[in-house]
Amino acid sequence: MTLTNWAGNIVFGAARVHRPSTVDQVRAVVADARRVRVLGSGHSFNDIADTPSDLVSVAGLPVAPRIDPEAGTVTVAGGVRYGELAAHLDAQGYALHNLGSLPHISVAGAVATATHGSGAALGNLATVVEGIELVTAGGDLVRLARGDAGFPGAVVSLGAIGVVVGITLAVRPSYTIRQYVFEDLPRAVLDERWEQIAGAGYSVSLFTRWAGGTVDQLWLKLADGQEPDGFGATPAGRAMHPIAAMPAESCTEQGGVPGPWHRRLPHFKLDFTPSSGEELQSEFFVARADAVAAFAAVERVRHLVTPVLQISEIRTVAADDLWLSPHHGRDSVALHFTWIKDEARVLPVVAALEESLAHLAPRPHWGKVFHHAPRPERLTDFVALRDRLDPERKFSNAFVERHLTGS
Ligand SMILES: Cc1cc2nc3c(=O)[nH]c(=O)nc-3n(C[C@H](O)[C@H](O)[C@H](O)COP(=O)(O)OP(=O)(O)OC[C@H]3O[C@@H](n4cnc5c(N)ncnc54)[C@H](O)[C@@H]3O)c2cc1C
Repeated sequence: MTLTNWAGNIVFGAARVHRPSTVDQVRAVVADARRVRVLGSGHSFNDIADTPSDLVSVAGLPVAPRIDPEAGTVTVAGGVRYGELAAHLDAQGYALHNLGSLPHISVAGAVATATHGSGAALGNLATVVEGIELVTAGGDLVRLARGDAGFPGAVVSLGAIGVVVGITLAVRPSYTIRQYVFEDLPRAVLDERWEQIAGAGYSVSLFTRWAGGTVDQLWLKLADGQEPDGFGATPAGRAMHPIAAMPAESCTEQGGVPGPWHRRLPHFKLDFTPSSGEELQSEFFVARADAVAAFAAVERVRHLVTPVLQISEIRTVAADDLWLSPHHGRDSVALHFTWIKDEARVLPVVAALEESLAHLAPRPHWGKVFHHAPRPERLTDFVALRDRLDPERKFSNAFVERHLTGS
């Protein structure tokens, strides 16, 4: 049977697909393989997980979450989906600091690409990793924890150093979030009050088609004690989907109804198709201080962008120290594009967008559609770590060779 990614634009070329149910089976598969890649939940939009050789899914490993109240951590199988882990944590009175827009993705796969939610003070999902348990090229089990040499390189790994079979994340006491949606934020207000808008909630998202005089929607996810401010936008009179014409039943509850963190921070519910379902995605990060210039750069090519765009989302991500993270050393604004599902039409527009943003040194989301990734500042250190753990580049693939060379 043909195996594709979630979007269906990548048909995996693997000669063999393995679905081990124990860590020992993972070790045996890796030890025997000449070339191997790991597949998470397959939500990336490019060939990052692909290989012509052996592909291993760790979705079948026992989830086995173990909370350590003293350390303030949970340790869980890498293949678990955020939605399942979050429900378990919340039932025990614990929470994660943030979530992406969808709870369907695997923890190890999301962490490997520095997947993020929004929040001016919140790092991406990889920033709360406290430890990883890896099956390395020889089939050995290696544990790395915060403070160990190479740890900041091993967390956002693009799957290039081993199979993450176990992962330890920092947890905090469970908390409540209220979600409010506003429509038609005057476009000029976005530029004038960008920093206040970005900081107007625990997590803030703006949805726009870059057309007309308004930003389509402002989503505020508020913690206890925060009050909603629409900055002149109109409170939505009904539940909204980011693509206003789509039904909102797939979206988490809005209207300021308090609810547990994991039922408000993602935009989409676990048991529904997230986003539009028929799409490609790209995302570029520039310095948060350059946000207004970045909005202008997108608008310079809007005549190209809007015909192939379903919706854009603007979010913020705090700086981190993870070597391959696109937020490394830079508080970031994230410019996300949900495109129509037509690669031939979308790819040239992505190139034009990259060119228009080039003066702001954009960095792409590793798991989405892009042409160019600048050399990460710590690439030499990452390559040294990779060469130590995987000297024969067993975990490499065409994507890794394209984007992580030149050291
Ligand atoms: C509808 C939709 C909405 C999205 N929303 C967001 C969002 O809000 N924010 C955001 O940042 N991104 C978002 N994404 C992108 C998505 O979060 C990333 O592509 C993420 O990497 C997907 O996780 P996955 O488990 O599907 O990983 P895959 O796509 O399966 O794999 C990604 C990478 O991780 C590696 N990997 C997977 N599992 C392991 C493992 N156990 N050990 C070692 N390496 C591993 C793979 O080899 C590959 O290199 C969205 C994607 C979709 C389809």
